[in-house]
Amino acid sequence: MPFEFAGHSRYESYMGTATALKDETEITISSADTPMMAQYKRVKSEHPDCLLFYRMGDFYELFFEDALIASAILDITLTKRGKNQGEEIHMCGVPFHACEPYLARLIKAGHKVAICEQLETPDEAKARMKREGKPASKALVRREVGRIVTPGTITEDHLLESGSHNYLACLAQINGAYGLAWVDLSTGSYKVQPQADFTEALRALNAINPAEILASDHLRGEINSAAPDVQTRITYQARSLFDSANAAERLCRYYGVGSLQSLGSFSPAELSACGALLDYIDRTQKGKIPYLAKPQSVLSAGIMQIDPASRRNLELIRTMAGERKGSLLDCIDRTSSPAGSRLLQSHLAQPLTDIDEITARLDRVSAFCHDTKLREAATDHLRAMPDIERGLSRLTADRGGPRDLLMIREGLVQAEIIRALLQSAPQAQIPFGDQIKSLRQSPDLAALQDSLSKAITENPPFLARDGGFIAPGYSPALDQLRTLRDESRRLIAGLQSKYQADTGIDRLKITYNNVLGYFIEITAKQADALLARKAEAGNPYIHRQTTANAVRFTTTELNDLERDIASAAEKMLALELEIFSQMKEAVAANADALSCVAGALAAIDVAASHATLAADYNYCRPELTLGTDFSITKGRHPVVEQALRDTHTAFAPNDTALENPQSLWLLTGPNMAGKSTYLRQNALIAILAQIGAYVPAQRAVIGLIDKVFSRVGASDDLARGHSTFMVEMVETASILNQATPRSLVILDEIGRGTATFDGLSIAWACVEHLHDVNRCRTLFATHYHELTALTSRLQNLACHSMAVKEWQGDIVFLHQVIGGAADRSYGIHVAKLAGLPDAVITRARAVLDLLETSEQSGSLSKLTDDLPLFSVAEPAQKPLSGAESLLQDINPDDLSPREALEWVYRLKAAL
Ligand code: ATP
Repeated sequence: MPFEFAGHSRYESYMGTATALKDETEITISSADTPMMAQYKRVKSEHPDCLLFYRMGDFYELFFEDALIASAILDITLTKRGKNQGEEIHMCGVPFHACEPYLARLIKAGHKVAICEQLETPDEAKARMKREGKPASKALVRREVGRIVTPGTITEDHLLESGSHNYLACLAQINGAYGLAWVDLSTGSYKVQPQADFTEALRALNAINPAEILASDHLRGEINSAAPDVQTRITYQARSLFDSANAAERLCRYYGVGSLQSLGSFSPAELSACGALLDYIDRTQKGKIPYLAKPQSVLSAGIMQIDPASRRNLELIRTMAGERKGSLLDCIDRTSSPAGSRLLQSHLAQPLTDIDEITARLDRVSAFCHDTKLREAATDHLRAMPDIERGLSRLTADRGGPRDLLMIREGLVQAEIIRALLQSAPQAQIPFGDQIKSLRQSPDLAALQDSLSKAITENPPFLARDGGFIAPGYSPALDQLRTLRDESRRLIAGLQSKYQADTGIDRLKITYNNVLGYFIEITAKQADALLARKAEAGNPYIHRQTTANAVRFTTTELNDLERDIASAAEKMLALELEIFSQMKEAVAANADALSCVAGALAAIDVAASHATLAADYNYCRPELTLGTDFSITKGRHPVVEQALRDTHTAFAPNDTALENPQSLWLLTGPNMAGKSTYLRQNALIAILAQIGAYVPAQRAVIGLIDKVFSRVGASDDLARGHSTFMVEMVETASILNQATPRSLVILDEIGRGTATFDGLSIAWACVEHLHDVNRCRTLFATHYHELTALTSRLQNLACHSMAVKEWQGDIVFLHQVIGGAADRSYGIHVAKLAGLPDAVITRARAVLDLLETSEQSGSLSKLTDDLPLFSVAEPAQKPLSGAESLLQDINPDDLSPREALEWVYRLKAAL
């Protein structure tokens, strides 16, 4: 049975569970295999770790274990197709023209997919066999894998989030030193960073958050024990692929440079990471590497360190629940273009410590803050800005279409308008100097824009092979063919009139369908006269088909015309494809300049976004210093403030002054008073300041911070076998071991996860360590009022508390930070607010009174002796209903059958 175009009618439902694909395929090629099965197995054996999408006509088919896995994930029906060495072959398929959603789900489920295409049509395969002198009946379509889709190598818009980067990272280790390189194939961004040690490398990976990570086999053990959570995203590679000498050669070859020096200077570990990355892209893209900017060095020293736990706690890019909504990014993102949104996200992932660079960013925001009209005009054009980076990537990877060309053209048009806007605004010229320079078009870029404008129509098709996207007037040859096509149409209309006159049949029509091509059609009733002419000499009408209502004819003249039209269409498409290919090459030749334009526009967009937010929420420009200042006047929490605005509630601003001699603040106050909000808002203000954004405060003076640590709230990490308390201690240990006098530390509730005295002792010792050893700027929130005693001994420690008011037995939270320690905890008040049963609240008050009046020692035994037993008032008796009261008076044994019946009537009436 021919396997090529198998039907899909015998699919059966399969509800199996998807399992991971085995590295070693169990499929063995046997002599009994059909040629197609042998071909399938050969291709599959070359890609054992991928699901193989094997193109058969209009479908990508999956076989064997691949089919079981895919059908379960995609919830598509599974069928069986013949047998392989006695066992049934499982099979399922997805339509090739709509495969992207399926692909997305498989990739999301952690699979890689090798896409095996048909390189010829069945007719071409037969013709080839004939040419080779072999029987055409044995022709097998040639197939090859054209691409391997993995989570880190996707470039399709549908499979990507427009406002987020999709990074593929590579971690390398050479002679004990680490290097990390990461690339976004969909935008061409390529970065590389040396890593002091494995922990730093993991921290950087956490900040970058790649979709896929490549690592050398020999790091498997280290990664397994230190970072099991990244395990699912890792693709291990043979150590031999990480050779730094080969890497240098590979980089020089890709960038067409004779020496590495023209790219920059890299450590062997960085080179190794860059080379292995490039090799993986080459293998998965089968040689069609999209445009990649030259690897840009990121110096670790220039980046503010935020460890994974703090990043999570502060909900910078995602909330604790993993959502973008509710995160700091979501709250501050006012960008107008996807590229701007991506850049903002990378800024937030890696705030800076370089004051000059931060100032340059802030100057751009200020320029937009001072000129609202300029900002609004720029924003309008940025909104109309297509995603040049992604279009460029698709075109250079040979996956682009005419619409991508249009995107590049439109991008260049908008870029030029934005450049002119900035250039003409005196206050913007200096801060946006670099961007204006990048946007200034070189003669080559201007020529590209010009030819794209002339060449591409306004509404081109998605695929080049559909044709019709080259504008009239661009190519004389194409125009000629089009005239011929239009002329042919006119000629056909002429023929139709001629045949109508010749036959005397007014309703004779010349029409077209895909099977017959052009034909003459008349109704069955009128056909007899024409059919009768068959015997006449010189009769031009040749019968082609009779249908229920019509009879169809052709003529030699019509056939000739049809041939001309078909050949013109073929030639037109060939010509359009040739022009498309020239345009693609012109775009690729200008890829560096285009990438520069895209980068400049993204930076402008980010500055406009910060300025818009600052205007909407009254943010101020932070003043950054080289000292250890931390003075915030009327600071607010950006996310809580926005959430409260939605409910028309005002956010209460608060001051902070973590400066000598009071760089460590101990914050006490009841639950719900706003301690966590206050702690976080200070860390967020510091981070916003160091990404070069305005901050939610009236004034903020911040001495550059090298590391931000945040331990807020309790969570457990069961995946790593860590209880809540263990997580708390691990995170605290990391802070105490790493914080420097330049760091900012916010700590909430240390030691709450264990017994009171244990916890108090740990919190006590931590405060002393932070004060004496770390000497960092610290906000320490606690319920251990005992810690306030430390003020007398620690000179840099100051006590503050959250103000509350008592009102008729309840408390009112003022959300204000005031000097001095809190006098009480108000825990029971908060419990009451939360709706604990009255009995529990009353009881808790009694216990608290007793505890407070008791001596510390022996209080518990006294407590149990003195306290009356816990009692809950009996619920009031429910009154009886009428029927129930009647029933109470009846003794069933005293009733005769007749009386019983009467009682039934009486009861019924009482209901
Ligand atoms: P707990 O100790 O129980 O964690 P907390 O003292 O840390 O409580 P938060 O969680 O910070 O309190 O704040 C509780 C709620 O109070 C917040 O969800 C917010 O709605 C509100 N809130 C906090 N700070 C302010 C403020 N400055 N202005 C207005 N509302 C605030």
